[in-house]
Amino acid sequence: MCLPWEDMHAQSKNAAQQLWDRMNPCTLCPRECKVYRKRGEIGFCGIGETPVVSSVGPHFGEESVLVGSGGSGTIFFAGCNLGCVFCQNFDISHQRHGRPMTVEQLAQSMLELQSYGCANINFVTPTHVVAAIAAAIELARDNGMSLPTVYNTGGYDSVETLELLEGFVDIYMPDMKYADPKVAEELSAAPDYPAVNFAAVKEMHRQVGDLKAEKGLATCGLLVRHLVLPENLAGSFEIIDFLTEEISQSTTINVMAQYRPCFEAASHPKINRRPTNEEIQSVRQYAIKKGLNVLL
Ligand code: SF4
Repeated sequence: MCLPWEDMHAQSKNAAQQLWDRMNPCTLCPRECKVYRKRGEIGFCGIGETPVVSSVGPHFGEESVLVGSGGSGTIFFAGCNLGCVFCQNFDISHQRHGRPMTVEQLAQSMLELQSYGCANINFVTPTHVVAAIAAAIELARDNGMSLPTVYNTGGYDSVETLELLEGFVDIYMPDMKYADPKVAEELSAAPDYPAVNFAAVKEMHRQVGDLKAEKGLATCGLLVRHLVLPENLAGSFEIIDFLTEEISQSTTINVMAQYRPCFEAASHPKINRRPTNEEIQSVRQYAIKKGLNVLL
């Protein structure tokens, strides 16, 4: 864990309550829909006050520093605060398949994942349900959960909400999707994504620093994911420059090559193909040349 839980405990109760307060009206994320989620009102993310979970279980497809022999203990949330036209999980993110889970059930799931031997608890798409997540982490830790927690986010997170998560999250794993507002608007309905995302990554790094690992498993820190898009639509080189110049030259980054057209991508000609090997390698080589810790 990044910080001793005992030191954070008193402060965390207050922070968890403040996160609930930020849902009514909802300003949890940069969309600031201002709906009253406790009254059942629904904003852009499509989820009310109770999280909807699509799956819970050990996952072996994450970065090797998160997996170990027991897998990463993923809790996959339905709904999303981004509107990516190429979403690979649109049945979960947009159609919101899953079942509602209370704070107590989430905490119980964490304890079960720990008992299975998972390396961490990995909250996938957590941004719109952070109030329940924080409360559940607190409850689980009070009952013996001692694994690192992973905040596995699309990266459209507000700094004010992240500040309240300090101490709950050990490993921040944000996407950095775009550097160009026009592309972010067209592909994810979020023209302010670059500005919001850069500020969020700064706050994440302030809290947890560079990625640290023991015996090959991450314990704490920042791990950036960057998906290479065709025709440098993701602004890859600008994002790498930002990381080296404004975050840390020791930032750990996963340059991801698995983009393929999904969901509504066919209606956007520029992204209706996979990136070429040259496009992927040029980003990877640039990150290496700049000195970042590039995952293989
Ligand atoms: S968390 Fe959901 S309801 Fe709240 S501001 Fe973001 S998109 Fe809107």
